Amino acid sequence: PPSDADEPASAARDALRRVFGYESFRDGQREIIEHVVGGGDALVLMPTGGGKSLCYQIPALVRPGTGVVVSPLIALMQDQVDALRALGVRADFLNSTQDPGQRATVEALFLAGELDLLYLAPERLRLPATASLLDRGKISLFAIDEAHCVAQWGHDFRPDYLELSTLRERWPEVPRIALTATATPATHTEITNRLGLADARHFVADFDRPNITYRIVPKKEPKRQLLDLLRAEHAGDAGIVYCLSRSSVDQTADFLVSNGIAALPYHAGLDAQVRAEHQSRFLREDGLVMVATIAFGMGIDKPDVRFVAHLDLPKSVEGYYQETGRAGRDGLASTAWLAYGLSDVVQLRKMIDTSGGDAAHRRRQSVHLDAMLALCETVECRRVGLLAYFGQEGASPCGNCDTCLTPPETWDGTVAAQKLLSAVLRLARERRQKFGAGHLVDILLGRATQKVTQFEHQTLTVFGVGTELNESQWRGVVRQVLARGLLAVEGEHGTLVLTDTSADVLRGTRRVQMRRDPERPARSAARSGS
Ligand code: ADP
Ligand code: ZN
Repeated sequence: PPSDADEPASAARDALRRVFGYESFRDGQREIIEHVVGGGDALVLMPTGGGKSLCYQIPALVRPGTGVVVSPLIALMQDQVDALRALGVRADFLNSTQDPGQRATVEALFLAGELDLLYLAPERLRLPATASLLDRGKISLFAIDEAHCVAQWGHDFRPDYLELSTLRERWPEVPRIALTATATPATHTEITNRLGLADARHFVADFDRPNITYRIVPKKEPKRQLLDLLRAEHAGDAGIVYCLSRSSVDQTADFLVSNGIAALPYHAGLDAQVRAEHQSRFLREDGLVMVATIAFGMGIDKPDVRFVAHLDLPKSVEGYYQETGRAGRDGLASTAWLAYGLSDVVQLRKMIDTSGGDAAHRRRQSVHLDAMLALCETVECRRVGLLAYFGQEGASPCGNCDTCLTPPETWDGTVAAQKLLSAVLRLARERRQKFGAGHLVDILLGRATQKVTQFEHQTLTVFGVGTELNESQWRGVVRQVLARGLLAVEGEHGTLVLTDTSADVLRGTRRVQMRRDPERPARSAARSGS
């Protein structure tokens, strides 16, 4: 028989095999589980798909009492509980979707000590009734899932999570385990401070997902580019396509279906029943493509998602990493593909500028977007950039991302940037008028459009000084100059304005090295090329 010292470990291994049917722990899981089973506090930073759930589920089974899981994913609680019950775990939940009778039943089970796990929506903790309920039962541990939601600095802040800071004072003897897939140093620090986890053990997993190939391409005809990718590399594969708006979800799904791809839409504007049906078909059937807003995917566990495609720029690297992390959970080769263009940059900047909230909030969103743009425009290994962002400095180039596989050509774009910035400077003098990127490019190319003649912009010295580049090249220049903060977008009209650093370029004290966008061969030429 095992010695006393081995007991928690063997009980945990036993639960892993007997309840969950797995042979062995994954990297990191055993240590975390033994620590929590032993009553210690823990902060777990582990990428999506890493296996965080077992880290609190097994200790909850091994320790006496009920494990209380705080999760913002109310829509998924029923599924999570059903999945656990199917394994014979006594699980239930309390949230606003239940009627008082249902809640009373769950509360009685908890008080009778007949629950291994109780999922709780964070807003319930604010209710005095909940605290008193928890006081009267026996709690084995608190698990705080999606712990980054407590971080105001993060990308997914939920005010209700601030309430969780009281857990420690109120139930000092109950171990707490906080878990998240977001691990930027800033978020890590904020979770630690807000949840009082300075004395907890911190488990930081390797965030690399080596089986995912990251690719970021300039957006031209996004739906067509996506179709080409699916046909060439992912025929018959299951995947997720993310779009920013509901209407582009619908249009993209229609487009794929009309081109013979089995695709389903998913967004908050669809009927709850339709959404549920699409989600369950995606999970159960092979080779379906889910076209969705970011409302889809949190907590979705499908191991063989072969690609995640973004047709619009994500708002933050955290979001991007979490979404792309849904590809290849089974460890097999998978693709994360993103198409982004100038209009994305302008649109997101506008959204930030016109969003409510305080200046500090807008500033944070803007920092998040800048980091995302830097990742898009980098000429270095994407993975090195991603890992550095999450605090893993000094990785070597991966050999499995687009910049490693086809190193981008660069060119000295200083003169082009100067021309663009001086055009912005000239237009800025017409204070009452607001001009966006399209008009600027028309001026640089010397096009006498209606708007150009209306404002007599053909008389500007910069009119027609940029004919060495074509329209798409100019849009690339604007994009990259924006991405580097040498130019900014302002207000609801997407007006381009100079920044503090623009002067360095105009004066010639700062050179601007640019990434050359690949020129896409005309489709007919590509076809007849064989
Ligand atoms: P996360 O919450 O970190 O995104 P999950 O807890 O959902 O990840 O786990 C991802 C997948 O890995 C699930 O299908 C889970 O059942 C599986 N898994 C977790 N731990 C193990 C293990 N030790 N052995 C085999 N599969 C595991
Ligand atoms: Zn690389």
